[in-house]
Amino acid sequence: MIRELNKMTWCDVEALNKEKTYFLFPVGSVEQHGPHLPLGTDDLILTNVLSGVLESEDTMSGELDVDGKEANILCLPPLLFGNSHEHYSFPGTISLSCNTLVSILEDVLASISEHGFNKLIVFNSHGGNTDLIKAYSQEWEQRFSVKVFLISLWSSLYGEGDEPSIFISDANVDIHAGERESSLLMHYEVESVKSDLICSDISRDVSFKPFYSGWQTDEISTGNGTLGYPEHASKEKGAEYARFLVERTIEIVNMIINE
Ligand SMILES: [Zn+2]
Repeated sequence: MIRELNKMTWCDVEALNKEKTYFLFPVGSVEQHGPHLPLGTDDLILTNVLSGVLESEDTMSGELDVDGKEANILCLPPLLFGNSHEHYSFPGTISLSCNTLVSILEDVLASISEHGFNKLIVFNSHGGNTDLIKAYSQEWEQRFSVKVFLISLWSSLYGEGDEPSIFISDANVDIHAGERESSLLMHYEVESVKSDLICSDISRDVSFKPFYSGWQTDEISTGNGTLGYPEHASKEKGAEYARFLVERTIEIVNMIINE
C-alpha cells in the first residue's frame, strides 16, 4: 500500500509494522534545461511520475497494513531542489550544495530512525544527485540504522526491462533536455515547451572516458545548455514513455520490498 505521509496522522504512522514500512523521499532539481524547457523540468517529471505511481491500482493504494503482511510505502513531500552545480553558469539554476543536500537527507534519516523505522527509498529525477546519495548510503546505514535504497530515473539500469523502443537517440548521449525529457514535457505540459527554440546542441564528445573529471554543461555544449536531441521529441513519445516510467518505478519498488 502507498500513502502520502502528509495526509496521515501520527497515530496512523505509529500503528504500522515498522519492519514492513518504507519511507519514499522524492528528490528533484531546479536547473536550466536548454532554451526550450522550463527550469522545473526534473520536478515536473518527478511529480508526474509520482502521481502516476500513487494513482496506479498496481500500487495497492488503500488502507495501510498494520499487521505487516504487506509492505507499506509512505511517500514524503518532495524536495524540489537538488545538487546542480554543473549547470550553475545558467541563470535561474538554483543548486543546493553537496553539504546541504546531505544534511537534508540526514535530517530525514534521523527522524525516521528516531521513530523506529529503518528503510528509506530515495526517488530521484536528477542525475546530478545520484553519485552523492550512493556515496553516503553505506555510512548512513551505519549511523542511522536505516537502509537506503535509491531509484534514479536516469540511471543506466532504470531503463532495463521493457523500455519502449521509441527514441532515435542513444540514451548515453541524449542526457539533458534532449529527446526523452522534451517528449515527456510535451506530454505533461506542452504549453511550457518553446518548440521554436528546440535546437540540438552537441558539438563535443559527451561519452564517458576511462577517467573522471568534474564538468560544466557550458564546457560540453555549444552554449544553449541542451545535451541531446530534442528535435526528435514528440508528444506521442512522451505519453508512451510516461506510462513506462510509472510502470517501471512500481516494478522497482516491488523489487525493493521483496528483497
Ligand atoms: Zn533533467
